[in-house]
Amino acid sequence: MTKVNNFPILPNDENVIGIIGGGQLGKMIALSASRAGYKTHLYCPKGDNPAEAVVDKITYGQWDDYTKLVEFSNDVFCATSEFENIPSKSLELLSNQTKVVPSSLVFRCAQIRSKEKEMALKSGFNTPKWFLIKNTDDLISSIKNLSKEGILKTNSLGYDGKGQIKIDKNSNFFEAWENLGSVECVLEEKLEFKREISLMYFKSLDGSEGFFPLSENFHENGILKKTTAPTYLDSNIEIEIKTKAKKLAQNLNFYGVLAIELFELLDGSIVFNEIAPRPHNSFHWTLNGCNISQFDVLVRTICGLPVKNVECNGKWEMINLIGQDVNDMSIYEDQNYILHIYGKKNVKPGRKMGHFNKNIS
Ligand code: ADP
Ligand code: MG
Repeated sequence: MTKVNNFPILPNDENVIGIIGGGQLGKMIALSASRAGYKTHLYCPKGDNPAEAVVDKITYGQWDDYTKLVEFSNDVFCATSEFENIPSKSLELLSNQTKVVPSSLVFRCAQIRSKEKEMALKSGFNTPKWFLIKNTDDLISSIKNLSKEGILKTNSLGYDGKGQIKIDKNSNFFEAWENLGSVECVLEEKLEFKREISLMYFKSLDGSEGFFPLSENFHENGILKKTTAPTYLDSNIEIEIKTKAKKLAQNLNFYGVLAIELFELLDGSIVFNEIAPRPHNSFHWTLNGCNISQFDVLVRTICGLPVKNVECNGKWEMINLIGQDVNDMSIYEDQNYILHIYGKKNVKPGRKMGHFNKNIS
């Protein structure tokens, strides 16, 4: 294994990319890395891990198994994580051993909703009105400041709409707090929005940076169901949010791919929701709809290869296959549905089993 700080890192048997997390994102990162000629080494706990099928090597270990993490890091020239909630202590340990892209600082920010909101505000974005909630007294006093309904979200470990509930002045605060596990939360104003939009920024270790075309997202029960892309904003607004996104990336000294979820309000203004410092479900359409996908771009950014122009080819729709959707015969019958089935063994309600992309130009 080579420990190099000189970029670009070119593909060969020595240059192994470490991937933390064995889910579908890990699988699609590994497929891109492999196509580009890099070897891959996966770190994840034993389980139903779709990425296992396509990597060169696997270390099984818990997220806080420091011995295993060190073993893994000694074999790779860099590590990237598909899994947002890897404990920050584990990421710091990895950072002492190898290059972690994006950095542990970035993950710490993305893991804690209050921190990411503070960072967004510092970078010039607006956020929904929000309050840090440490106990039910905080909740009772903060809810008075909301004119409408609110959403109470656990400050960390939430995903796919999990760890959040709607709440208003008439709710049973004690029950709400307990239902979320009596942990630190944020209370947010529930916004009425026109559209949900996501932006993806990238920066390579060679310094090149840019954006993918924008995505428009449709959620059902807090889970992404459909994305259409590219979507457009008023050009001045688009320039403004890209400037803020670059500022946010600069504040985090960001390298890799960074998704930013946004709300477009009824008056056209844009409000920040959250970031994800990794490939994002709302950019899975780029696998077929762009000259280069978000996974290919991630691989290039961590190897320090330039990423100059990212362009889409027509208009695309991405549909997530959630739970039993994957057993619906009709999706297999039309060859224009470009299927990406993750190969998870257990079908569960709410579980992302695959997606398909469809050109709708
Ligand atoms: P997750 O980490 O689960 O993706 P999000 O904060 O993105 O959590 O919430 C999931 C979805 O819930 C969002 O995509 C959006 O549809 C809805 N949502 C979240 N926060 C708000 C809000 N403040 N106002 C209105 N809808 C919201
Ligand atoms: Mg989200």
